[in-house]
Amino acid sequence: MRIGILGGTFNPIHYGHLLVAAEVREKFDLEKVLFVPSASPPHKNHPDIAPPRHRYQMTVLATRSNPFFSVSDLELQRPGKSYSIETVKELLNIYGKDSGLYFITGTDAILEIFTWKDREELLKLCQFIVATRPGFDAGKIERTILKRIHLLKTPGLDISSTDIRSRIREGRTIKYLLPEKVEEYIYEHGLYRTGKIR
Ligand code: ATP
Ligand code: MG
Repeated sequence: MRIGILGGTFNPIHYGHLLVAAEVREKFDLEKVLFVPSASPPHKNHPDIAPPRHRYQMTVLATRSNPFFSVSDLELQRPGKSYSIETVKELLNIYGKDSGLYFITGTDAILEIFTWKDREELLKLCQFIVATRPGFDAGKIERTILKRIHLLKTPGLDISSTDIRSRIREGRTIKYLLPEKVEEYIYEHGLYRTGKIR
């Protein structure tokens, strides 16, 4: 099995995530891409992070129409902070040691997932695919790391969850930035209307 893993806060999921996943899926001929919403992101302190169940549900709604996509609640089941190394090891247990895991990130996030102690182990356990993201220069990635990852040029969508959240707070439109089903879900549950959601 060749499986892509796209971790993220998905707060909320948007077309930037979906496009990257679809491009990588096709280019690397993956059998599936697993979207893995993080429980309590170790590298973020958003005051406006929606509860995991909402982020999970929005990710399910956004990926449902693509037979190659599925959503994993692995990090939501695990208490405490989520580290990529633990997720990768669990997925290797589930899918078998021989499965090919492809860890997908944008150019901004690649360094966030390596901690000082797990970088070498992660690079041994799976391949890394780093997708270009508008506003984030791939040239900033160390050359030693660049040599060990696949850098994939994708049609850049300058969309971020941060921008979507601030649009909602300001009462501005979020149309065409994320799937309509996700947009409806956000309004139905009153997400992101204020800086703090719990
Ligand atoms: P936030 O603004 O809250 O940080 P985000 O839009 O960056 O949200 P994340 O959930 O943090 O979304 O990102 C998950 C993964 O998707 C990361 O690896 C990130 O680099 C990648 N990603 C997110 N948006 C894009 C985009 N527009 N183009 C390419 N990659 C993206
Ligand atoms: Mg981000």
